[in-house]
Amino acid sequence: MSIITEADAANELMRLAKQIAHHNRRYHAEDAPEISDAEFDALVRRNAELEAAFPHLIRDDSPSRKVGFEVAASPLSKVRHEQRMFSLDNAFTDEDVADFVARVRRFLNLPADEPMAFTAEDKIDGLSCSLRYEQGKLVRAATRGDGEVGEDVTPNVRTIADIPELLHGDVPDVFEVRGEVYMAKADFLALNAAQEAAEGKIFANPRNAAAGSLRQKDASVTASRPLRFLAWGWGAASAVPAASQFEMMQRIAAWGLPVSPLLARCESVAAMLAHYRSIEHARAELGYDIDGVVYKVDRLDWQERLGFVAKAPRWGIAHKFPAERAETTLEAIDIQVGRTGKLTPVGRLHPVTVGGVVVQNVTLHNRDEIARLGVRPGDRVVIQRAGDVIPQVVENLTRAVPREAYLFPDHCPECGSEAVAEEGEVDVRCTGGLICPAQRTERLKHFVSRAALDIEGLGEKTIAEFFALGWLESPADIFRLKSRRDDILRLEGWKDKSVDNLLAAIEAKRAPDAARLLFGLGIRHVGAVTARDLMKRFATLPALRTAAQAAQAGDGDALADLTAIDGIGPAVVEALGDFFHEPHNVAVWEDLLGEVSPPPYVVETRDSAVAGKTVVFTGALETMSRDEAKAQAERLGARAAGSVSAKTDLVVAGPGAGSKLKKAQELGIEVIDEAAWAEIVKAAG
Ligand SMILES: [Zn+2]
Repeated sequence: MSIITEADAANELMRLAKQIAHHNRRYHAEDAPEISDAEFDALVRRNAELEAAFPHLIRDDSPSRKVGFEVAASPLSKVRHEQRMFSLDNAFTDEDVADFVARVRRFLNLPADEPMAFTAEDKIDGLSCSLRYEQGKLVRAATRGDGEVGEDVTPNVRTIADIPELLHGDVPDVFEVRGEVYMAKADFLALNAAQEAAEGKIFANPRNAAAGSLRQKDASVTASRPLRFLAWGWGAASAVPAASQFEMMQRIAAWGLPVSPLLARCESVAAMLAHYRSIEHARAELGYDIDGVVYKVDRLDWQERLGFVAKAPRWGIAHKFPAERAETTLEAIDIQVGRTGKLTPVGRLHPVTVGGVVVQNVTLHNRDEIARLGVRPGDRVVIQRAGDVIPQVVENLTRAVPREAYLFPDHCPECGSEAVAEEGEVDVRCTGGLICPAQRTERLKHFVSRAALDIEGLGEKTIAEFFALGWLESPADIFRLKSRRDDILRLEGWKDKSVDNLLAAIEAKRAPDAARLLFGLGIRHVGAVTARDLMKRFATLPALRTAAQAAQAGDGDALADLTAIDGIGPAVVEALGDFFHEPHNVAVWEDLLGEVSPPPYVVETRDSAVAGKTVVFTGALETMSRDEAKAQAERLGARAAGSVSAKTDLVVAGPGAGSKLKKAQELGIEVIDEAAWAEIVKAAG
């Protein structure tokens, strides 16, 4: 990854969260994707890269914490999954797969010669579904949704021939089979031909056809569509009658559900990759679309130990097939101005179909990227569908033709202020600050966005409209909109009810979550996670402000207090100091806190001997890796910190523990060994 500043990473992560949410909605809720799957994967991958490089910038609404889309506008009723439906992280290269295997070995702390087996199967391109069987009888079927809440598609699923109403054999009392509802390629083509003849909806690809067909309010429509099912796993179960993934899948097949005929058990990275190649080779001949190969740790006790991180299990990964490319014309370069004034060039393409999906836009990142590619409007370019970072122009075919280079604007297209790149930075920013309408509206949009105050009904368009009318100067003005009820009513598209709903949604946020409010202010480097970490420590915004100002004034204790928080570094402390140093910001802040009163931030704790405590692991651990230990601590509601301080409650010390152990002893902090820790974990269940 090229060198990128923290602030830019924060901006890009924000943009990615929005883009990914948008494309998720187009894909999952509307069955009408705008970009190819590979392009989508590239966005997700870029997000993951940035999050790996800047873990403290991970957003509350990070796509890595969500699966699929949130079920909101669906006509189907909602189902809360008893056990969350996860999705898998992606691997794109052989090295990614080797890294995954090495990560598993490290996490489990296995010796290099300990044999490890993985299952490998084709990753079918369909809609994930959970089928709940009780006493062997199908009682409920739900889509994945956002992983926690899906849609009830029980009547629809009952029409799918592959899915038996009754399982036969020794089936546990409760067993949720998970798999993919899909449409075969030939059936898809026939369906689209029939749809065309009937002037119905044409589906972009088999996956969307399957999703659209399953998510019907009227199950008879589903019945008329040729859907299939393939099981790949399970969720909640009263018993799991096997010790390995491979055996369990055979068991599920024996009960009467289809399982991939390409499922194999591999004992080395080489065997996994060989199976991947053979599936890739067979891909074109398969009757259905696949987009990669899924590997899973075979031993179920190991899967259990590996557990999950954010939205994905540590024990599985999807190895995607490589990208496709397409050639088209770059018709225009538009410049967008973001919340921090950054000018982002967006390439508008002559629409090009890649794998059945129309691609029209591509990000060009920044001035340097345009110079690197030597592109200007009118050029023929090659678009990459997947792969390395963001979906982008990989080649400029017109490069050799002599012509004038594209001139990156030196003035903001929104406010006309000078646009400059600070020394050492690649990004060009508008210097207009608060006079720049683009920056101000973007800040307001950020303030009401889902991860921040989340005000329903106050979307980007409304913000822009109210801003243009001069009604919204700063966040506090949102809470004064009630005095403009009649003015709003006079605007096109507003009725009594919609205005009342909006004003009620605003009133409902008079006592907002302090961390969301802090995040909404858009202070540099203070992402959703950082905001939460800060509020966990300081509980109220005035307390945070006092500490930040004291730290900036040179108070060593206040500085230590801030930097003792895991993930808070000098950049955040400085950004907070700078924020409160600026009189205008303080005015906005005080104005806002005159309108809203966030209650003191409370940290939820779980019921275990270490809930709410801060634990430090030091020295060598013998039965597990440091990561596994930290993950255990978090599961028990404790916080795993990196260094010992007066705030540490417990130190788990293994052989070779040095300065941290010494410091703990000096401070009189309780010290236990790994075995005692294992007892605590066991006691918590
Ligand atoms: Zn501007």
